[in-house]
Amino acid sequence: MARENPGRYSRQELVVGKEGQGRLQKARVAIIGLGALGSVAAELLARAGVGHLTLIDRDIVELSNLQRQLLYAEADIGKPKAEAAHSRLKAINGTVHYGSLVADINHKNIGKILEDEGLVLDCTDNLYARFLINDWAKKRGRPWIYSAAIREQGSVMLLAPGMPCFRCTFREAQGLDTCDTAGISNAISTAIASLQVNEAIRYLTREKRLAKESDSQCLIRLDISSLSLAKIKTKKNPQCPACSGQYEYLGGKKEPRHISYQCSDTYQFFIDNLDLASCEKKWKRLGTVRKGKNYLFFKNLSVFSNGRVLIKAKSLGQANAILSRYAGM
Ligand SMILES: [Zn+2]
Repeated sequence: MARENPGRYSRQELVVGKEGQGRLQKARVAIIGLGALGSVAAELLARAGVGHLTLIDRDIVELSNLQRQLLYAEADIGKPKAEAAHSRLKAINGTVHYGSLVADINHKNIGKILEDEGLVLDCTDNLYARFLINDWAKKRGRPWIYSAAIREQGSVMLLAPGMPCFRCTFREAQGLDTCDTAGISNAISTAIASLQVNEAIRYLTREKRLAKESDSQCLIRLDISSLSLAKIKTKKNPQCPACSGQYEYLGGKKEPRHISYQCSDTYQFFIDNLDLASCEKKWKRLGTVRKGKNYLFFKNLSVFSNGRVLIKAKSLGQANAILSRYAGM
């Protein structure tokens, strides 16, 4: 580990103060998803001197990631992102403690994975994961920060105990666009990751003051195509299940992936409310979609109008990644 140098954070201390810097160096932050958002957020937090960073991702580095995922280089292609990120971050700031995990979070493992974390950054590009993190955070009284970016727009929201939660604010949906289906500019992903890190540092260094500020309860939206930034006030939804103690995602009731069999490298899932028309629309932008009366074929995916999805993959993890990438689930 590199030697602590008192000058290392001198410029930052002029902004957050010595006390704030001390709080950062005692903080423990988990980053779930080390793609366009997570790789930038992890690097900024490592450079800022956060005490412990836990790096979680299920994927490997691919050539198409390098346009925006700043922690990786060509030599990392084929390596798990969590491991490639870990070695790069250690080289950037060896005084930070790191943990890395190649894993797909689900309702069974989230409690164990996040048990010791003081703040969680959602960089998952996955709606199910966000509702799951929300349930866990509500139940355990932990803060987390949502982030999302697609094409030229993005959002960030701090969700701390006592504030309106993610489920108060967002509806459940299936088959949303993802970066892989709709595209993403590297300017928006780095801008959104920066805003997310700003929220994290504000929260970690000035927690008590921030908790009293009503203006901290807002959704931040940035659109770089029109250069507009908006702060949208959020409010509690009296019908929100999570706020009334019903943790449907954490309890596994909302698990979107029901595997009924696995053979010859094919994995089967059932997805509620699967919309073939919207799948066809977004996949057409990416390649050839073959269409039947009740089904679509695209790359290694076959989807049926009754919600059945077949994916050719080498492992369940790869099948889950394909489902997330092309179907946003
Ligand atoms: Zn709520």
